[in-house]
Amino acid sequence: MSGPVILALDQGTTSCRAICFDRQGRALTVAQQEFAQHYPRPGWVEHDPQEIWETQVAVAREALRRGAIPAASVAAIGITNQRETVLFWDRRTGQPLTRAIVWQCRRTAEMCERLKVAGHEAAIRGKTGLVLDAYFSGTKVAWFLEHTPGLREKARRGEACAGTIDSWLIFKLTGGKAHVTDPTNASRTMLFNLHTRRWDDDLLALLEVPRQVLPEVRPSSQVYGRTPRDFLGAEIPVAGAAGDQQAALFGQACFGPGHAKNTYGTGSFLLVHTGEKPAPSSRGLLTTMAATVGESPAYALEGSIFITGAAIQWLRDGLKLIEESADSESYAATVPDTGGVYFVPAFVGLGAPHWDPYARGAILGLTRGTTRAHIIRAALEAIAYQSREVVEAAEEDAGIRMAELKVDGGAVRNNFLMQFQADILDRPVIRPRVTETTALGAAYLAGLAVGYWAGLEEIGQNWGAERRFEPRMAAEEREALYAGWRRAVTRAAGWANP
Ligand code: ADP
Repeated sequence: MSGPVILALDQGTTSCRAICFDRQGRALTVAQQEFAQHYPRPGWVEHDPQEIWETQVAVAREALRRGAIPAASVAAIGITNQRETVLFWDRRTGQPLTRAIVWQCRRTAEMCERLKVAGHEAAIRGKTGLVLDAYFSGTKVAWFLEHTPGLREKARRGEACAGTIDSWLIFKLTGGKAHVTDPTNASRTMLFNLHTRRWDDDLLALLEVPRQVLPEVRPSSQVYGRTPRDFLGAEIPVAGAAGDQQAALFGQACFGPGHAKNTYGTGSFLLVHTGEKPAPSSRGLLTTMAATVGESPAYALEGSIFITGAAIQWLRDGLKLIEESADSESYAATVPDTGGVYFVPAFVGLGAPHWDPYARGAILGLTRGTTRAHIIRAALEAIAYQSREVVEAAEEDAGIRMAELKVDGGAVRNNFLMQFQADILDRPVIRPRVTETTALGAAYLAGLAVGYWAGLEEIGQNWGAERRFEPRMAAEEREALYAGWRRAVTRAAGWANP
């Protein structure tokens, strides 16, 4: 092993990962470990913050051990994280005061409903760029303050820290010295004003959140502090942080207006860089901060689709139709089409562009001739249809046409899915050599802060395509298939609404 590396900590929804990258952006060693999901009530999802921290430390040590990389060779640590998930901890002891409420948790849906009825929706959208939804951290913070005995008093006295997972990890990594977050994570809280790029007093008052519980918002690429020597064996700068989707945008070298990527994991997230000014959406997308280096801010439009790869997981674990997610590809290839079957995976409602919390999953068009392969194929096709919906919404909002789509995430290994995506979008889909773009983006942000990389140009040269999928479906077939999808979505809409 020669030369210094950057250590990226990728704290995801179901697992913690640690990856060491070299100057060419190659992943030298990877360690990954899952942690427990807690579902205390229907629709509620929690994580144990202490377990997240311990798992993250364990994989960081494991990644170095596997590559026989001494701590002294780690030039910096970068962090990327599941977004919106939030917790409270004790400022003095560093002990969690709550569990973490996970982004998927619906416990504040009623609170959001009340805020809507009281007429706050437009103001919140204008200030934060977000749809008023339980997805974001602000109402989760308010919920903790209301329901955790003694927490509000502790918060008033300045003894409690609130933070998203980036904030929690940075606090622990710097031995309790830095209570900070970055703009990409802050922009998912519903407490952060996109225009002033500060916590917003009106929103803090509306949700009764004392300002002193919130972290300081610092640039995504900056040295926040150093790890104590006993953590990995050397004092290492903690030098970058960004939410997972914004990190992926950066890792895909999407640095300027019009650059876009779509990530296919549990859900799918299309992000389109829109430049130095926030672009409002009239098509159900979110306006959000993009990660950047330097003084000027960067913004993005985001299409957040809640369930894509998770539908394949459900075929595997729920229906037991397949053994492995990857098997979906060979099954789909055994049939020429779905035989008219559509699968709308609205398991937790629909996110962008519909924002229908009452939609529920549906499989439509079943006949006696329907087979397992048809249903599996329909689940994969649904991923592509949902992505087309957000691509078109983004194009209308941003007034651009994307010539091609860069993709990443676990499900892009599925060649059938990638080809169908190119066909249904009618443009090329480009799969990069490194699909670990989330971790790579975090590494880039940290490395740039300590001079490991000289600038964006050097990083841009690391990006390379592994495969291009060219569209080859006739227009008539494409539009007929997509029209069927749109009809299917209307059948799933509003299903759970009493
Ligand atoms: P996350 O970071 O959201 O946990 P990943 O990027 O690791 O997700 O991707 C995992 C998701 O991708 C899972 O939902 C899995 O079902 C899906 N997936 C992985 N491989 C394939 C495949 N070959 N075909 C279809 N889906 C896949």
